[in-house]
Amino acid sequence: MAISDVYTYIDETGDRGSGPTSSPVFGMAAVLVDDGSAAALRLAVNQLRHDFGVPGTRVMSWKTDAKNHDRRKRAAEVLGDVPGLRICYVYAIKSELHLGSYRGHPERFYNYVAYKTYESTLWAARNWKGGRARVWTRFGHVRRHDHRTTAGYITTEAAGDGRVPDHLEQGMRWVSADRYLESQAADLYGGFLKAAVWPSGQFGYTEPAYLLRVWHQIRNSGDCVIPLGLMSMPDSSLVRRNAWFPCAGCTR
Ligand SMILES: [Zn+2]
Repeated sequence: MAISDVYTYIDETGDRGSGPTSSPVFGMAAVLVDDGSAAALRLAVNQLRHDFGVPGTRVMSWKTDAKNHDRRKRAAEVLGDVPGLRICYVYAIKSELHLGSYRGHPERFYNYVAYKTYESTLWAARNWKGGRARVWTRFGHVRRHDHRTTAGYITTEAAGDGRVPDHLEQGMRWVSADRYLESQAADLYGGFLKAAVWPSGQFGYTEPAYLLRVWHQIRNSGDCVIPLGLMSMPDSSLVRRNAWFPCAGCTR
């Protein structure tokens, strides 16, 4: 426990598939906390678990416990009021990806999005705590996916890119959702992104209210979230196409 310690919790939203029933987007939400904000975040997660009546025997999730507007608004309000945490988002719009790219290769797709997310979080940690920060990265465990290949890929890519401060990393792991309360927050933050960029329901609406409620927590949102706080792929300007995007006159 030290002032320069950062814990990163990463969860995915959408799936990596390319079939007709697959999600239109695949992305990851990363929540960065230090010791102070981790304690506040755990209180917020427990508040929401209580509000939503989640039994102690299971984890809270966007999919199961935040199905309606009322609960989603509550989740964004409670999490959005946690001070001193940072959010990084990365997501890919599948219809914009070339066929034959990583879109058609679920494992490569996961690895690539995970790496881009990892880059963003290490830069965010250095920006926050300086070059001597110590970072513990905790990815959400994914069923039927060999995390060792992802860990190898990420480590190799980061080592080959001098811009990425991978020396901050103290041990990258994949953890099950019931290990840390903070992972449940990452799942809900992923839901806020999903609601904003993934048209759904009978009328294909998106709902940006939840994402905008936590916008101030996204890295660099005081200036512009693109690309360090919110990266759309394959082109980081794609997110600007959303009518709700709040950066007026954005040129990024
Ligand atoms: Zn902008």
